[in-house]
Amino acid sequence: MASTFQSKGSSGGGRRTGGGPGGSRGKGKGKGKGGARTVALRRPMTPAERAPVELPTVMTVAELADNLQATGVEVINELIKLGMMANLNQQINYDTAHKVAESLGWETFEEKPEFVDSDVAAFEERALEALDDPDAVSRPPVVTIMGHVDHGKTKLLDSIRSANVAEGEAGGITQHIGAYQVETHGRKITFLDTPGHEAFTAMRARGAQATDVAVLVVAADDGVMPTTREAVAHIKSAKVPLVVALNKIDLPAANPERVKQQLSEIEVVPEEWGGDVPFVEVSAREKLGLDDLLDTLLLVADVNELKANPLKQASGVVIEARVDPRRGPVATVLVQSGTLSEKDAIVAGATWGRIKAMHNDRGKKMRRAEPSTPVEILGLIDVPTAGDRFDAYPDERQAKVIAEQRQKDRRAEALSSTASLTNLAGLSKEIEAGGSAELRVILKADVSGSLGAIQTALLKLNDEVKGDVRLSVTLAAAGGISESDVSLASATRSIIIGFNVRPDVAAKRAADKAHIDIRFYNIIYNLIDEMKLAMTGLLAPVFQDVTDGYAEVRNTFRLPSGDAVAGLYVLDGKVIRNSKARVLRSGTVMFEGTIKSLKRFKDDVREVASGYECGIGLDGFNDLQVGDQLEFFHREEVARS
Ligand code: GDP
Repeated sequence: MASTFQSKGSSGGGRRTGGGPGGSRGKGKGKGKGGARTVALRRPMTPAERAPVELPTVMTVAELADNLQATGVEVINELIKLGMMANLNQQINYDTAHKVAESLGWETFEEKPEFVDSDVAAFEERALEALDDPDAVSRPPVVTIMGHVDHGKTKLLDSIRSANVAEGEAGGITQHIGAYQVETHGRKITFLDTPGHEAFTAMRARGAQATDVAVLVVAADDGVMPTTREAVAHIKSAKVPLVVALNKIDLPAANPERVKQQLSEIEVVPEEWGGDVPFVEVSAREKLGLDDLLDTLLLVADVNELKANPLKQASGVVIEARVDPRRGPVATVLVQSGTLSEKDAIVAGATWGRIKAMHNDRGKKMRRAEPSTPVEILGLIDVPTAGDRFDAYPDERQAKVIAEQRQKDRRAEALSSTASLTNLAGLSKEIEAGGSAELRVILKADVSGSLGAIQTALLKLNDEVKGDVRLSVTLAAAGGISESDVSLASATRSIIIGFNVRPDVAAKRAADKAHIDIRFYNIIYNLIDEMKLAMTGLLAPVFQDVTDGYAEVRNTFRLPSGDAVAGLYVLDGKVIRNSKARVLRSGTVMFEGTIKSLKRFKDDVREVASGYECGIGLDGFNDLQVGDQLEFFHREEVARS
């Protein structure tokens, strides 16, 4: 197994482990036309003659075809049967590839990683580990400052920093690296200096818990504001201990008692009132109460017994990362356990590197960084994402291989998550697997009148359909299907239903790229019926529209016969004489029918490719207008699963 990764090179494709006519591109079913001469001479292998194929976690359709000695079209057809519209360059994950391979008569197995990635332990688990670790010692608290805009978060961070520079570093130049450390009573405190809960929440969304204590800044003259409430909600849901800093007490309008009252109402009750939240009155501007605040933070840290083992390989979290035009990728990392040393090889998210240089927030060169220390590092080959976990590894090659594995895993994960619920085939798969699922729907219709009726009927399915599938409506709105509908669908994992409306070119492209299922109906009954089938896992679309191309009407004129024809510019795909055509005006379907004539200059043509102009006449529709979009499509049978 040890050679697996090395021999892979950058092709990313899998390999056969034996059997089969070496290097043959013979078409298993002998259907190939182009190179038929050589292929025809070769007898197709029977399944028994085929050795199992090793496939990577992620591969393109073309790579899969290559591995299965099949044509791209054969693989694409199998994918269509699975409810996936794909092209040759599209990436698919192992599970999907395995199904395709199976129906083409191949056994497969998944390529196994060479090293075991330590990224399996969650952040919380590591904190628990530290409690039992006999080598764990006390470490500085890591603090995030949150609160409403203009309540003084930035000022507080600046004042604390300028008043409490760590000893011996007073001469250093302050660097903004995303975090800094101060010293008080000989003890250190680390502040993350991107204030606000967005950064905090973004990190949590990535599974990172960088903060030990949250400081909620509330201006004593202004009181609890919407963002104050939001911040409280985020802090509580993260179960992070909280300290309230009542700021701006220098102002005559300051009314700390009123703020305490307001905070109590949202269950942030001061200790002095019998609650569990320390409140400290401060003035960030006049530098009042800052020592009190720092002492309180240390106290909270002590109560929470913050510990880490400095003797291990370092691990932690990426706080900030960017590309410096001169120095390449630069990342600020917070060491959470172990000690990070110069020259360590690290994996951060899906990138890796050997640390070339390490500096602290005063620009001082560091050889070692112990738990809770933020350092800016150079040497990663790419830019990680804030919130990514990092780990040090003893060996550079191991770091490289693990980073490459993660890149593949991330791609595979992205592929399986988009495939699972943004298309209905994924839903039936989930139901089959016995899991509970939610079918989220973005509903677009031509007139708002039909929206309400459809939405009500859809939601009623929740009562009618027994089982673990729920249907919910993410958005119901009148109008054509736009690119922003597609990005909403992607973010909320919804499918899109168009009732008498269609996507424009940009939306269609975005949907194809993100594998978002868009379903079209013009009869409410059909729409409801199909969603019902989808919810019961029985959905098996028999026919599906396959788009051939899009064009735009650039001008219109009438022939002596009285027929209207239009000059088109083909935007995407191609116009095929035998395609069906739909006329879209502002996303609404005006007409659906067949093409009567298709011409380039004076000649009748069979097809016109994207980027060219042509003239078109439609059967039974004489009302084409400049700016109309035409969608050309054909129906394809999709096998029942
Ligand atoms: P942020 O949006 O929460 O980061 O708030 P800033 O730190 O930018 O502060 C907003 C405004 O309040 C600025 O004009 C500060 O000078 C002022 N400010 C901050 N702290 C104090 C304070 O303790 N007293 C007074 N009087 N003004 C303050």
